[in-house]
Amino acid sequence: MTEFNFSTLIRAEGIRKNYRTGKVITEALKGIDLNIRRGEYVGIMGKSGSGKTTLLNMLAGLDSLTSGSVLIGRTDIHGMNENERARWRGENLGFIFQSFHLLPGLTLLDNVMLPLDFIGKYEEKKSRDAAMMLLEMVELEAHVNKYPSEISGGQQQRVAIARALISEPQILLADEPTGRLDAGTSEIIFNLFDQIFANGMTMIIVTHDNSLEKRFQRVIRLHDGLIVSDEKAGDS
Ligand code: ADP
Ligand code: MG
Repeated sequence: MTEFNFSTLIRAEGIRKNYRTGKVITEALKGIDLNIRRGEYVGIMGKSGSGKTTLLNMLAGLDSLTSGSVLIGRTDIHGMNENERARWRGENLGFIFQSFHLLPGLTLLDNVMLPLDFIGKYEEKKSRDAAMMLLEMVELEAHVNKYPSEISGGQQQRVAIARALISEPQILLADEPTGRLDAGTSEIIFNLFDQIFANGMTMIIVTHDNSLEKRFQRVIRLHDGLIVSDEKAGDS
């Protein structure tokens, strides 16, 4: 049994994930136990192929488990059906991806408001004001009517951060959020993450970039589908 504590937000037990490709089975996760407390800033690190993306997807309910369980608050996320889980994700999680995933046919403002539509919380003026506030936070208020193709990759990722926050999620998750950005632009993105964390967000960021290790409050290292270390800043 992993420890239970009222501030535990995510409780993952015995997570295994096998992928099957034809006759080949890949054991991507081989038994992961993990507790994440509310307000933690966690980096999931490890080499390419170690299972980082798979673990993030399991914690977020983006894909099914082979075995194990994930509780977020009191919700058993793998116990819900596909529709319930999609809705729950929309209301509770914010996602940031390596390739930004903005819709090219929508303005930046409309991209940021889009998740509210999905969870049925769109209200014309209120949503617009909230999206404008977030676009100000990421310093793109002068560009709100542009389309994604008209701004840089770093700016697109800032829009994606604003979009991830519009539904006021409990947890912000990112998979290699700076994987396509240069060092200077990555710095801007991580400074934004610091700001979001300082405002109380629980954050889980996946990266294979060892130079980012010091940015996190807690670092979980994966190797070959298992956790090989789990250290808080200040641990020696
Ligand atoms: P990381 O994000 O650390 O690079 P992944 O979680 O993507 O690692 O992958 C872990 C392992 O699972 C790798 O061996 C990878 O090839 C395999 N894998 C990931 N996704 C799939 C998939 N959809 N089908 C088959 N194998 C997969
Ligand atoms: Mg990955």
